[in-house]
Amino acid sequence: MDLQLYDSYRRRLCRFAPLREGEVGMYACGPTVYDYAHIGNLRTYIFEDVLRRTLEFRNYRVRHVVNITDVGHLTSDADTGEDKIEQGARRTGKSAWEIARLYTRAFKDDLRRLNILQPTIWCRASDHIAEQISDIVEIERRGFAYLTSDGVYFDTSKLQNYGHLARLDAAGLAAGTRVDTGEKKHPTDFALWKFSPPGRVRQMEWDSPWGVGFPGWHIECSAMAVKYLGAKFDIHCGGKDHIPVHHCNEIAQSEARHGTTLANFWMHGYFLEIDRARMSKSSGEFLRLEALVERGYDPLAYRYLCLTAHYRSDLKFTWESLDSAVAALDRLRAAAHSWGDPGRADAATVADFSRQMSRDLNTPRALAVLWGMVKGDLPLSAKKATLLHLDAVLGLDVGRWRPLQDRIPGEVAALAAQRARARAERRWADADRLRSAIESHGFAIDDSATGSKLRCRRG
Ligand code: AMP
Ligand code: ZN
Repeated sequence: MDLQLYDSYRRRLCRFAPLREGEVGMYACGPTVYDYAHIGNLRTYIFEDVLRRTLEFRNYRVRHVVNITDVGHLTSDADTGEDKIEQGARRTGKSAWEIARLYTRAFKDDLRRLNILQPTIWCRASDHIAEQISDIVEIERRGFAYLTSDGVYFDTSKLQNYGHLARLDAAGLAAGTRVDTGEKKHPTDFALWKFSPPGRVRQMEWDSPWGVGFPGWHIECSAMAVKYLGAKFDIHCGGKDHIPVHHCNEIAQSEARHGTTLANFWMHGYFLEIDRARMSKSSGEFLRLEALVERGYDPLAYRYLCLTAHYRSDLKFTWESLDSAVAALDRLRAAAHSWGDPGRADAATVADFSRQMSRDLNTPRALAVLWGMVKGDLPLSAKKATLLHLDAVLGLDVGRWRPLQDRIPGEVAALAAQRARARAERRWADADRLRSAIESHGFAIDDSATGSKLRCRRG
């Protein structure tokens, strides 16, 4: 069955065929590492992971490249404001390099906890300055760039169809604009290279043919994508917010530099919508995966929640929907655990499931097929094998799960027993000390009228 994927550039479902037999080159815009990722960001990486797993399930070899933006992403997408990393450094008193390292590590931890496969290649913007400079030199040589007092800019009027991805009306935008574009010739023009502010030394800055400074945000992605995947590769993805600016600009640079639209498919994950008012009560500015873990949620329940919505529809986050995801995932795990050893996967279920996934990754429908199988009357060994087989696509890691009683280390069980005794004897200080000891092992303990219950804090 053909794989149909929605291409944002053509604005329709298209049959996917790789440019090179058996291989898929896939680039995903990575995080700007000036702060932790929120669970909305992570929804996009879950979508990309499901895409990759679906391709691998179809026996393609996937070369998956993800970048780390550690320089050049300004607080405004219009090339004004401060560099987000340098701002983060000021906020925390750490160096820009430390900030980038810290949040890169935190991001990778989040991916691991969500069972997201490691990309084939991680690449950092600051490690590819030479590649970016050489692209800008070439773009300038071909007449697509101009100099202002604060940097080198891309002249979007030189391309006939600038902004096609977002169906931008560049001429209309220029005519109707009331915003001050500074020295930019057109409102859609964007920075390729920015000079360090006069009289100030930035923590991250490099020499260039135009002066000391740093690359614009968009050039890093096209430079690294081309370096690792070639000037035209299969799939470029990111969140839908990248359509009107970042990805239009990546395409513009590639058209100027290589005469290609960079990728054959442009795919975009829609947003997780989070109610800010309710969220801020518990966790400050935004909701991190860690905040879910602290409340006792398994990160994979969040992954399950994301699978219940199609990637091309926005998903409203609520604690109630997360609770439902927990219940569903728990049922799936407990069932799988009780089914014993796997036999042979059921071909009809696998075909149905694949058919749903081949329709632009329809995970809600694919999950429905899975549940039909779980509730149906196949032999248990076939159910087990089918579930494990399909989990290669879903990534819920169902096969590794064990009931809590099998996972509690003896030491933690002993601490819990001591704590129960301390509570019975009303030795509250001892009980509190024992709770801390239990928590330091990654478990939490909830007290209720009927007794105390252990649960795992880490997924
Ligand atoms: P950033 O670190 O801001 O560059 O964003 C990392 C990724 O998360 C990008 O692909 C964004 O498009 C995506 N993203 C940002 N906000 C959300 C959201 N609320 N829901 C889903 N994806 C998002
Ligand atoms: Zn990018």
